[in-house]
Amino acid sequence: MKKLCVILDNGHGKDTPGKCSPDRSLYEWQWTRDIACGLYQRLLEEGIEAQLLVPEQTDIPLSARVARENQTTTEAKRAGKETCLISVHINAAGGDGKWKSARGFSCWIAQSASPKSKQLAQLLYAEAEARELQGNRSVPAEKYWVAPFYITTHSSCPAVLTENLFQDNKEDVAFLLSDAGKQTIIDLHVQAIKKYIAI
Ligand SMILES: [Zn+2]
Repeated sequence: MKKLCVILDNGHGKDTPGKCSPDRSLYEWQWTRDIACGLYQRLLEEGIEAQLLVPEQTDIPLSARVARENQTTTEAKRAGKETCLISVHINAAGGDGKWKSARGFSCWIAQSASPKSKQLAQLLYAEAEARELQGNRSVPAEKYWVAPFYITTHSSCPAVLTENLFQDNKEDVAFLLSDAGKQTIIDLHVQAIKKYIAI
C-alpha cells in the first residue's frame, strides 16, 4: 500500500487556441479543468491526497508545471510519500475543424517511462476498457502508448497523460458533455488510482 499524493494536471489554459470540437460545444481546456477539479474532489472524498498542478485559468508553461511537480515530489519524499502525475487531455484526429471517425480512450507515457508509469497507464486503460471506452482504433499489446510529451518526459515521478476520447468525434463529444460521461471519466481515474495505491 503506497502513501501517495496524486498530482493532477489539466492540459491547457484558456489561452490555448483551437483545441475544441468542430461545433465549439466543447473546449478542451474547460473540460479538462472540470474533470481535474471533479477528480480532485473525489480523491479527497476517498481519503486520497491530491494536488491541482494548475489552479490558474491561464496557460502555465510546461517548464513551470514540471518545476511545481518536482517541488511537490521532493516535499512528499521527505514526508515518506510517493507522488504520481496524471495529465488530463482530450484527443483530436485532425485540426481542420471537421468531425472525424476516430474514437476512444488512450493513455500515454514517455519513452523513458518507469515501470510504475507503465503500471499506472495499464490500470487506467483497463478501467476505460471495462467501461467500453476503448474506441475504434488499434491498441498496442502493452495497452499504453508512447510519445515524447514534455510533461511525462520531464516529471520526476511516475507520469501518464490520458487522452479522454476525441474532441472531433460527434459521439465522443456528446458523451464527454453529458453528466454520465463526465462521471464515468472521473470514476475510471479514481478506480485506477485506488488499484495503483494497493500494489
Ligand atoms: Zn491536449
